[in-house]
Amino acid sequence: MVNRVIGRFAPSPTGPLHFGSLLAAISSYASAKHQGGLWRLRIDTIDPPREQAGAADSFISTLEAHGLHWDGDIVWQHQRIARYREVLAELIAKNLVYACDCSRSARAEAGVLDCLGPCRHGEHHPNASDAAWRLRSPATASTYHDRLHGELSELLSRSCGDAILWRRDDLPAYQLATVVDDHDMSISEVVRGTDLLDNTARQCHLADSLGWARPQFLHIPMLINSTGQKLSKQSHALALNNNHAAENVFLALQLLAQQPPAELRQAFIDEIITWAVAHWCESALPIGDIKQP
Ligand code: GLU
Repeated sequence: MVNRVIGRFAPSPTGPLHFGSLLAAISSYASAKHQGGLWRLRIDTIDPPREQAGAADSFISTLEAHGLHWDGDIVWQHQRIARYREVLAELIAKNLVYACDCSRSARAEAGVLDCLGPCRHGEHHPNASDAAWRLRSPATASTYHDRLHGELSELLSRSCGDAILWRRDDLPAYQLATVVDDHDMSISEVVRGTDLLDNTARQCHLADSLGWARPQFLHIPMLINSTGQKLSKQSHALALNNNHAAENVFLALQLLAQQPPAELRQAFIDEIITWAVAHWCESALPIGDIKQP
């Protein structure tokens, strides 16, 4: 049996969806659907201190207004904490992670990215209730394939050190939650923005450590505004206007170099999305940043 393609969109409710989010949503949707696959929605409610009230609800109305209808139920990360704990326990049992209570200031002073050493080497055993859990990074470079960027390789010990999987404030970290969810949701392809590219080697290493198959990856270019800033919630990018959904999707397809025909400009949103799925052309995607018109 040929496995079905399953893609996903996984926004964090730290602010409303903006035009950059729309590029990732459309790309992940059209890619999965073009291959006859499913498209799942996960809302990454994993970092309550950074969440914005109402953002998650606005994702639902924005995606619906833009004709991006997900398959199955929405997955909410805050409902899956017990599952993340279970996987952490498995990693602890396999001695793939260690508890680390090295403070940020001590690490900054020593100029190290992760643990100062004693926790990693078992010479110091912090109280787990006041420590982060870190995944041991491999001594050799981690390599992975991106469908747009090709073969990539990263020496994790140099680029980011041992990744935190469980935070000292007792919250699961993004890397752990993402890998566990992508596995449990049987996600076969992760299509997302290049701003997340530097997490991919860590996520592949974690999936490998757990003996799980990696999804395929495709990182689409970022949208930059007139001042050269990447569009993000941090740069206070404007929320998508649902009243201009058809226009937004048409423009997004143009920016993704999909060359939608001019007559589609007047079409209803569902017609534009149907066209995008039928004509989705991954090889046309630009690699470099896209300037917002
Ligand atoms: N929730 C993450 C974000 O909004 C993205 C997760 C992912 O695509 O891996 O930045």
